[in-house]
Parts: sequence; structure tokens; C-alpha cells
Amino acid sequence: MSTYDELLKISEQLRSMERALYLLAWDERTYMPKGALEGRSKTKAELSSLYHKKLTSEKTKECIEKLNKESKQAELDDVEKAAVREMTRDFERKYKVPDDLIQEMSKVSTKSQSAWEKAREKSDFELFLPHLEKQIELKKEVAEYIGYENEPYDALVEEFEPGFTAEKIESIFEPMKKELSSIVSEMLSINKKPGEGVFKGKKFPIEKQKSICRELAADLGYDYDHGRLDETVHPFTIGMDDDVRITNRYSEDNLTSLFSLMHETGHALYEQGLPPEWYGHPLGKRISMGFHESQSRLWENFVGRSQEFMDYLFPKLQSEFSNLKDVSKEDFYRRINRVKPTFIRVEADEVTYNLHIALRYDLELGLFREEIEPEESKVVWENKMEEYLDIVPEDPSHGVLQDVHWSAGQFGYFPSYALGNLYSAQIFQSAKDDISGLKQNIYEGRFQQLREWLRDNIHQHGRRYKAEEMTKRLTGEGLNENYHIEYLKEKYEPIYGLV
Ligand code: ZN
Repeated sequence: MSTYDELLKISEQLRSMERALYLLAWDERTYMPKGALEGRSKTKAELSSLYHKKLTSEKTKECIEKLNKESKQAELDDVEKAAVREMTRDFERKYKVPDDLIQEMSKVSTKSQSAWEKAREKSDFELFLPHLEKQIELKKEVAEYIGYENEPYDALVEEFEPGFTAEKIESIFEPMKKELSSIVSEMLSINKKPGEGVFKGKKFPIEKQKSICRELAADLGYDYDHGRLDETVHPFTIGMDDDVRITNRYSEDNLTSLFSLMHETGHALYEQGLPPEWYGHPLGKRISMGFHESQSRLWENFVGRSQEFMDYLFPKLQSEFSNLKDVSKEDFYRRINRVKPTFIRVEADEVTYNLHIALRYDLELGLFREEIEPEESKVVWENKMEEYLDIVPEDPSHGVLQDVHWSAGQFGYFPSYALGNLYSAQIFQSAKDDISGLKQNIYEGRFQQLREWLRDNIHQHGRRYKAEEMTKRLTGEGLNENYHIEYLKEKYEPIYGLV
């Protein structure tokens, strides 16, 4: 067997373990009985440790060293070179960190997450503070082992957005923040509430919502032969090659379930669009978290919240929900696109959303640059919230304690959400340029062309191209925040009568 084939075999074995871990995670968040948590944690820890051992084994190391030699590289074609590049990256990020540090991180994370849950429940930042301090300290250590371009934070961002650094993110976020803040303050100054009363006092039976969602996912192209739709508290998608599962949540009081469904379906279409011949292959994965998020946002916002989509969706809703009979399509469109600053990120609209991320980014970067002390986090958060969105949370559970990420040691993750929004605007513009009649397609409820465009241009390439290169291939330039800003202006000026 050639060294390259050996590497592929290792990759396949790793993927099998990963699939098992993902399935356990899916089960834990959907149907696992409460009392099974302890046993489940044990199983997961064992399996994760096997995975880690395999990835960082002497065998893997040997293959990677051989394949990175100049003489060997010369024998590889472009796909093989990319596969070696990605495996090398995965290997190094784990191999460079000592085992005892990894074990410590895992222990600290378990404690820290349960402390965070309590702290959030009691809205007591002090309860969480020592854990936050510890997580930052450990992640700084990790960054030193992994290595970085300019500063420790770069090593952490690299986990989620390969090729990005703090400096690069700042160069995109700084102008974005200014533009978004000015759009938001202009909207708020006119004190308008588009689509007021559309959902007020109405109930939307959950069983009906479920059946609409089930059909909607199928219409968008989600393949139920290779997936399923279940219920959960925080919707998520899990991709296990030929088994890609989505989850959703429902509330009787509104129809946000439709948009979370479209979001998760967007993630799922990415996973289902990966080429089957690359299941278990080093390249058979998403490019980055930001790219994944771009696919969910594209379907949720650029399709789902568009005026054209209302022609497809609204008549269906009216026939299911008699209480929408006296609501106009235009009012419904305005209601689902209302801009309102909220404390909670996951409830944010598409205009304010990236400001929630900018706030988190400022804070975590400050923590890692040691310009902000952990104990100042709560106050910095409140000040930034006031600066960006003109609201101040009354308690930390609506502020600094709202997200799980830091308690799990996931620093560097937040930028991906905002980058996803930026990518989606730029990608959707390219799709519009390429597909004549895209708007008409959406209007008539035909999504195949767009889905195939995304599959052919993005999904089927797995992670062969890095984000920067993929963006250039797709759009002719690197990531540019102006597409997002222009899209928002064009869409929201008429809704808010700002033209
Ligand atoms: Zn998402």
C-alpha cells in the first residue's frame, strides 16, 4: 500500500469514529433519557481518546512526514496535495498540544460548563468568573503550543476559520461595525414597527408548523432518504456523510420555526452536497465554520426572508392558518424582517446580528491581548451593547452569560457567525449573476437551480480550496463586507421608508 493510501485509510478510520461521536451527540440532544448523562459522558470520553490516539499516532506522523517531503509531493496531483495539506493541519493542531493539557482542558470544560449553567440561571457573573479565567489561561497555553502568525488569538481563530487572523478579521469588522451602527441608528430614529400586529394574540398549532416545515425542507431539496428531522431545544444539524440530520424547535406564538428550519436545511444541503466518493476522505468536509454558516444564512435570509419567497410561502400559510386570512403578504414580509435590537444574539435580526458578534469579538480579542481583564468582561459587554445597539442588559444572563461558547473554551468561534453572513451576501450576488431568472425561480418555488449552483460551485469541492481561494473562485475577489452592507440597505430602506 502506498503511503498516500495509508493516509486515506487512517482518514476513513477517523471518520468512522467521528460519525459515532456525532451520533452520540445527536442522541444526547434529542432523545437521550436525562439519567443517562453520566454513562454517556464516559463513552464519549473513551471514544474521543481513541480518536485522538489514532490521529496523533506514530503511524499518522510517519505518513504525514513522508508525504510532505519534496520528492513525494512531486508525485502527488492537486487533489492529493490538498488532502495531505488538510490532514497535516488536523494532525499538527492536535499533535503539538501535550496529552495532559488536552485532558486538563476536557476536565475544566465539564466543570466550567456546569458552573456556567448555574451562573446563568442565577444571573451571577462572579460564579462563572474563575472558570472563565481558567479557560483563557488554558487556551493561551494551547496557542503557544500550536503556534501563530502574530498573536495567540490567531491560533484559536485558525481552528474555525483556517487562514484567518485577528488582524484580517479586524480589517473586515471595523468598517462593517461603522456601517451597521449607522444603519441601525437611522432605522431606530424613525420609530417604525413594520408589520405590527401580524402575530399578536395569534396561535399557530405546532402540528401544522411541523408538517409545513417537513414539506419545506423537501421542497428546498433536503433528502429524507439520507436524513431526518427531529425536535430539540437549540436547533442544529449534524452531518455524517450519507446520514445528515436536522433538528428544529417550535413555538405556538409565532412562525420563527420556518426560518430556523430553512437555516438548518441550508447546513444540511451543504453536507448532503459533499461528494459521496469523498466520504471519509480528508477533503470530504466543509471549508470552515463561516462557510457552513454562509449556506444556512443564504437559505434562511436571502431566500427565506425575501419578497419573492413570500409568493411561494404565504399562500401555503394562509391555507393552513385561518388567522392569517386577513393579513396581507406585504405585512407578513415586513413583520419577518423587523429590525429590533435585542439582548440575545440568537434572537437577533439580520441587520443587528453582526453587531452582536462584533461585541463578542472585541471582548475576546481584548482578553487575549490582555487589554481587558476577565473580571471586566461584564462591564465591557454592557458598554459595548450600549455603544452598538443602544440597549443595556439589566442582568448578566441577558448579557455576558448568555452564550455557552466560552464555558466550553471555544474562543475564536464567534467571528465565524458574522463571516457566514458576509460570505452569504457575496455568494448570493454571484449566484444571481450566474443564474438568470433566479428571482423568478424563488417566486415560483423552484429551488433546484440555486441548490445545484451551490453544490457544483461549493459543496462538491469539500475543503479542497481554502476559504480565501474559494471566495475568489466564486466571486472574483476576496471577502468583502460591502456586499452585506449593500444588501441590507437595498432591502431595508423600502421596509423602513428610508429612501
Ligand atoms: Zn448555523
